[in-house]
Amino acid sequence: MTTAVAASDLRALLGPRLKLAEPLARYTSARLGGPADYFVAAESAADLADLVRTARQAELEPVILGGGSNVLVADAGVRGLVILNRARAVEFRADAAQPTVWAESGANLGLLARQCAGRGLSGLEWAATVPGTVGGAVFGNAGAHGGDTAGNLVVAAILQQDGRVEAWRGSELGFAYRTSRLKQAKAAGRPLVVLGAELALTAGDPAALQAQVEQFVAHRKRTQPPGASMGSMFKNPPGDYAGRLIEAAGLKGARRGQVEISSLHANFFVNLGEAHAAEVFALIHQAHAAVHQQFGVDLELEVELIGDWTGTC
Ligand SMILES: Cc1cc2nc3c(=O)[nH]c(=O)nc-3n(C[C@H](O)[C@H](O)[C@H](O)COP(=O)(O)OP(=O)(O)OC[C@H]3O[C@@H](n4cnc5c(N)ncnc54)[C@H](O)[C@@H]3O)c2cc1C
Repeated sequence: MTTAVAASDLRALLGPRLKLAEPLARYTSARLGGPADYFVAAESAADLADLVRTARQAELEPVILGGGSNVLVADAGVRGLVILNRARAVEFRADAAQPTVWAESGANLGLLARQCAGRGLSGLEWAATVPGTVGGAVFGNAGAHGGDTAGNLVVAAILQQDGRVEAWRGSELGFAYRTSRLKQAKAAGRPLVVLGAELALTAGDPAALQAQVEQFVAHRKRTQPPGASMGSMFKNPPGDYAGRLIEAAGLKGARRGQVEISSLHANFFVNLGEAHAAEVFALIHQAHAAVHQQFGVDLELEVELIGDWTGTC
């Protein structure tokens, strides 16, 4: 993205909340990546919508950052405006015939899942171990332990390119394995923004739901590495697992600088401390090439590269 406006123009539109050259590593689960030229945090869904509309007035299509748990930010950072989504209000609708929860898109998904379990509201247990926000989960149809966002979503408030807000039902979101119509719109250069989502629940026993959550947490601790990562680097190809293929290609434990392909789960690339995004990028290419050469499988990235990658490729 080219930066079409001067900092002073954005400052005039957004006021003192606008930050310049804000380091993004601290807002990502991998703890790496360079600065955003312009950065602002949205504190509510209405604020998020206003900020996006304002940015577009200034001819900037902003990058929305939720939990930063599915992105690899370039070392050179992001040329343009990053909006950090801190719209976290949540409303439980437990008394309805079909209980639901409405969450603003910056709400933490795992925390929300635990809150539901604690209130005896079943359906989101799978999400208790998934980092990131509700908006990020809708965007990428996050899922785990046999559940996914598509299975819960009743309706989502979607900010359109023309600034209107539309209510899209789950069937309108084009959900498939780790993708949605929102991902396609972004790839086509016309990003849409999730402002909030209503998720379907059912009544359950709080103790049993919490026990289920703890079981999922324990399973994750056994099977996935701790430390700073982006979760699964590649999508699982049909009928197989990316981690199995990378391991079979002999790359478990492979390192580039401060990044390691986990020896516990080869689809996790872990920042050992002071990693650079370029090191992750190099390992991505190494793993992709090795798997393609040895097994003829063209692994597709699950993690999204954002920012200015000029000169890295
Ligand atoms: C340790 C670890 C384990 C993980 N395990 C799983 C797992 O089991 N299952 C799984 O599915 N994923 C998993 N992930 C990946 C990640 O948790 C999910 O992809 C998550 O849904 C990303 O949400 P986020 O808020 O962090 O999105 P971000 O990383 O901030 O953003 C990802 C993309 O979504 C877009 N986006 C974010 N919010 C919005 C919004 N409000 N409107 C429009 N676009 C938006 C961003 O612009 C970006 O394109 C894991 C990640 C980690 C680090």
